[in-house]
Amino acid sequence: MNMNTKLNLSINSERLLKRLHELGRTGLDNDNKRTRLAASDGDKAGRDLLVTWMKEAGLQVEIDKIGNIFGIWYGSENRNEAPLLLGSHIDTVINAGMYDGCYGVLSGLEVINSLKEKGFIPTRPIAVGAFTNEEGVRYQPDMMGSLVYAGGLSADDALKSVGTDGTILGEELERIGYAGSKEPGFLKPHAYIELHVEQGPILDKMNIPVGAVENLQGISWQRITIEGVANHAGTTPTNMRRDAGLAAARVITYLRDQANASNGTTVATVGTIEFKPNAVNVIPSLATFTVDLRDPNEQRLKEEEKALANYLKELAISEEVSITTEQLVRFNPVTFDQTIVEMIEQAASGRGLHSRRMTSGAGHDAQMMARICPTAMIFVPSIDGISHNPKEFTKDTDLVAGANVLLDVVSNLAGN
Ligand SMILES: [Zn+2]
Repeated sequence: MNMNTKLNLSINSERLLKRLHELGRTGLDNDNKRTRLAASDGDKAGRDLLVTWMKEAGLQVEIDKIGNIFGIWYGSENRNEAPLLLGSHIDTVINAGMYDGCYGVLSGLEVINSLKEKGFIPTRPIAVGAFTNEEGVRYQPDMMGSLVYAGGLSADDALKSVGTDGTILGEELERIGYAGSKEPGFLKPHAYIELHVEQGPILDKMNIPVGAVENLQGISWQRITIEGVANHAGTTPTNMRRDAGLAAARVITYLRDQANASNGTTVATVGTIEFKPNAVNVIPSLATFTVDLRDPNEQRLKEEEKALANYLKELAISEEVSITTEQLVRFNPVTFDQTIVEMIEQAASGRGLHSRRMTSGAGHDAQMMARICPTAMIFVPSIDGISHNPKEFTKDTDLVAGANVLLDVVSNLAGN
């Protein structure tokens, strides 16, 4: 037994919730909406508040070249050990909720704050990070700060990114005072843990307070273009048509059938579609649509991509249309660290909380960090699964429970 295990610690729930609400009120736009796009004035306001809190907690604040913020708690005798890193992001989408990202960053800060106040002796530094531009609304790609941090994109290239408003990320970071000097990756984490609201309905619907996230779906996006022949909707018999619209519809229902047959592991979505000439009485000559395919297993994701390609070949013959595809995005699935996932389950059950293993359907900074260190995520319920929306909501009791589970995992990883 070391002395840390006798401490019986919990977070200061009042402080966590107060900060979450205060950050949630920060950086509102002219319409009073919560819009803290990366490197904007709103983002600066959020960053300034976070840095103030990090300094109040006595953390060493460091900013790297891509604007990632780190608050580091160095103990007196652990400087040479690899730090345990917690975190997420505080940038938002347009008209966002107040939990996405912010909950993970502020909980990380709260865990460090509480451990420090209560005399916990960390065997390694514990740090909390807020990664730049996770949402990717203003600058592409999303999850940029963590991608750069993990070495998947150079800081120089990322800083050249041109925003939807014509601005350049590097100049904007400079302008708001967050173009730091540290090399991305300067902290080599012992492990990374990200606490996040689920942004999906599973925990809420199943009434389970904690998700031990064991993997993250691979994502395959493609654009499919089907070319047929435009013709009169009244005079052309259906067996003489080359109907690009009908072929597109067949692809949509095919994808749903495939997803249904996968036992819930594959999900597939056609989220955009466009017809030409797009007239009520003309058979479409052209259908252009996107396919979003996801699966947590790379082998299965590949099989689904291949099956779709075969289906398109057959469809081109049977409907007498020509079909071309273009890959837009491809991310491999990520498997999180089994040991940490088990620790999360144990921490939950130690606090009398039900938990379940789950797959993250959304992208997160954790998927980038998994490239460089053992990584896992903890989810808490999102009411009705609503996210990227001001209606996003998680109950205070769930927020506090999730942060306490994080605290237990941290004291485990940095206390023995
Ligand atoms: Zn997020």
